[in-house]
Amino acid sequence: MNIFPGLDFIDTHTHLDIPPLSEDQPGAISRAEKAGVCQVITIGIDLASSKKSLELAEQFPQVFAAVGIHPHDAKGASDEVYKELLELAVIPNVVAWGEIGLDFVKEYSPRDIQREVFRQQIQMAGQVDLPIIIHNRDAHVETVEILREEAAGTLRGVMHCFSGDVKVAKQVLDLGLFISVTGVVTFPKAEVVKEVVRYVPLERLLIETDSPFLSPVPYRGKPNEPARVVHVAKEIARIKEVPLEEIARCTSANARDLFRLPAP
Ligand SMILES: [Zn+2]
Ligand SMILES: [Zn+2]
Repeated sequence: MNIFPGLDFIDTHTHLDIPPLSEDQPGAISRAEKAGVCQVITIGIDLASSKKSLELAEQFPQVFAAVGIHPHDAKGASDEVYKELLELAVIPNVVAWGEIGLDFVKEYSPRDIQREVFRQQIQMAGQVDLPIIIHNRDAHVETVEILREEAAGTLRGVMHCFSGDVKVAKQVLDLGLFISVTGVVTFPKAEVVKEVVRYVPLERLLIETDSPFLSPVPYRGKPNEPARVVHVAKEIARIKEVPLEEIARCTSANARDLFRLPAP
C-alpha cells in the first residue's frame, strides 16, 4: 500500500547491486512501493554491475537499468568492454548510459584515462540514443568543457548528485541537462545545494537517493534505500515552498520524459 495515495516518486539513481542493498533487493523494492516510490533506476559502475542492473530490471517490473563505467573504474575500460556495453545498451530495460564522468576527489583511475573514457561513453550513448547520467566530483569546469565539446546541441542527460553552485547549475542547464539532488539537500549545512534547488526550475529537477550512500536526515549515517527519496522530495518542497504533490508530479514527469519510462 502506498502511504501517499495518488503520489508517485521515482528514485532515478540507486545501486541495488551494492551491499547492503544487494542483500535484500525485494525488501528494498517493496518498502519503496509502500512509500510511494513506484519506479527506480539502478546504475552500473562497470561491466559486471551493468549486467547485474539489467538482471534486476528484468526481475522487477519497477526497476530499470543504466549501463556504463564509473570514473573510478575507468582504468578497466577496453574495446571489449565497450563492445559488451553497446550490446547491453540496446536492450529495452536499459534506459540510460551511466554513470560516467570525472571524479577528481578519489582518483581511483588516472585523470587522463577518466577523461578519455568519459568522452568515449558520451559518444556511444549518442550512437544508441540513450540519455547520460553524469557523475562529477571536484571537476565542474572540465566536466562542462567535455560535455560542450562532445555533444553540443544534442545532449540528453542529468548531472547526478549535484554538488556545484548556482553558477555551475546555470552552465549545466544551458547544456540542456537536468539536475538531480540527493539526500545531501537535507543536511543542515548543505546551504549551496539548497541554494541550487531554489534556483533550478522544477521542470529541470530530478530526485534520487544514490543509495546505499547519502542517507537523508533523519537517517543520516545509516545505509540508504530507494524509499527515502521521499525525504529528498519533502526538503525540495520546503525550500521551493511548493506542495509535495507538485514536487512528486513534476520530478516524476521529468524522469519519465528523460528516461522514456512507461507509466507505472
Ligand atoms: Zn555518482
Ligand atoms: Zn551512483
